[in-house]
Amino acid sequence: MSVARTLGELRASPFSEKRLSWRRVKDEMRDNLMTRLRRNGEGASETPIFPGIVGYDDTVVPQIVNAILSRHNFILLGLRGQAKSRILRALTTLLDPELPYIAGCEIHDNPYAPICRRCRDLVAKEKDATPIAWLAPEHRFVEKLATPDVTIADLIGDIDPIKAARGGHELSSEFTVHYGLLPRANRCIFAINELPDLAGKIQVGLFNIMQEGDVQIKGYPIRLPLDVAIVFSANPEDYTARGKIITPLKDRIGSEIRTHYPATLEEGIAITTQEAWISRNGSRLHIPQYVQEVIERIAFVAREDKKVDKRSGVSQRLPISAMENVVSNAERRALTHQETFVVPRISDIYAALPAITGKLELEYEGEMKGADHVSRELIRTAIAKAYDTHLHGVNMNQIVQWFDLGGEIQLSDNAGANEVLEGLTQIQGLMDKLGKLKVGPKDNPEMQVSAAEFILEGLHAHKKIGRNEERVFTAGEKQPRAPEKPVFEREEPGFGRKRSFN
Ligand SMILES: [Zn+2]
Repeated sequence: MSVARTLGELRASPFSEKRLSWRRVKDEMRDNLMTRLRRNGEGASETPIFPGIVGYDDTVVPQIVNAILSRHNFILLGLRGQAKSRILRALTTLLDPELPYIAGCEIHDNPYAPICRRCRDLVAKEKDATPIAWLAPEHRFVEKLATPDVTIADLIGDIDPIKAARGGHELSSEFTVHYGLLPRANRCIFAINELPDLAGKIQVGLFNIMQEGDVQIKGYPIRLPLDVAIVFSANPEDYTARGKIITPLKDRIGSEIRTHYPATLEEGIAITTQEAWISRNGSRLHIPQYVQEVIERIAFVAREDKKVDKRSGVSQRLPISAMENVVSNAERRALTHQETFVVPRISDIYAALPAITGKLELEYEGEMKGADHVSRELIRTAIAKAYDTHLHGVNMNQIVQWFDLGGEIQLSDNAGANEVLEGLTQIQGLMDKLGKLKVGPKDNPEMQVSAAEFILEGLHAHKKIGRNEERVFTAGEKQPRAPEKPVFEREEPGFGRKRSFN
């Protein structure tokens, strides 16, 4: 590690003038990316280009790699909760471990090619004694959420009359500029989220900086040949809507890259498992596979549902928050009943509605029914699909019959496992079906109850048995005998298969 403290020491270090003066941020990212790709190609160690980004290996990541190799400014187009911000933040992993700049400079001037007046004067006076400071990659990322009220002053800068008066400078002097976010992102990555929300006038300013390095502040032309890798994100419909983005700016964005939701249930589950806070102190936790699947399927089903607004999408944060709430409800139950084993049940998913309803933007029809109602429907559909994956073709007649003959059982999400298990064993044929879910009589009561409840919830989702608001399972409403049709026929064609991209 170099510890040069002055310009003279820096010249003698590996950060020579030859190496540094022409190395712009985009060159730096390109160089480091090439090193990583070469190393992966040699097969020595597979370092993911973007650690923690799941499901984009064949789609989004190669396009970002190409954009960086091309030294493009680029934009990620995608709906909410598609890891856009996270990818942009991960770009800092492509920066050098340390970057020298002129100490005290507000815009991190390159010691060999300062652009601000202060630093040019300083280097002229101090020469090789000019003090040097260092910048770490995590401090080289500036992020701004675009909103209609962002001004030129916020983004680019303002003329500071007090600064002018105090220093005795002209108002148009470079000394009087109070720098905005973009100049402060000099030699950094600057990310603007939701670009279409930026006013046209600001987009023009941004374009001028990217194109010419010139900008006008309050009518005064200021020259700012900044070195910034500018990246953007936007909702695709907003971005393509006519008139939202000024054409010359669009022209300067080298690559448009579309993000997407997880293509398969497995990828969705992998993301949720990685992001949700589930490894908690205290009790042992076991989340059954079918509970994970139902939670993930809620998002998949919602993305297809016509009651849910397609333009805004269904964020991956829905299953993540739902999972956290499901675990908490199970945790709460375990604490109440002094159980040492925390096993979520399907009823915990219904108890997690507060983590679900707010994440759905509803269409008119959905709003008429209410977020609560729509969410319950989505959960029920998700249960039916998960049931079909795990219990396809299993004969459940005996169980249905038990209810048809007047059997009833209440399964409250608050009820302790031991208390419920006794009731469940009374239902003929139920407990020996748990083997299909890899649960046996020797497993602890928490797991048995969860699995048995999943079967009953699945039968209810398929309208084979009934269930009321108090979570009492009863006989289903008798449907007129239609021509015999297999009831459990709904195999998910997409499940388990990789989506293909051309
Ligand atoms: Zn400077």
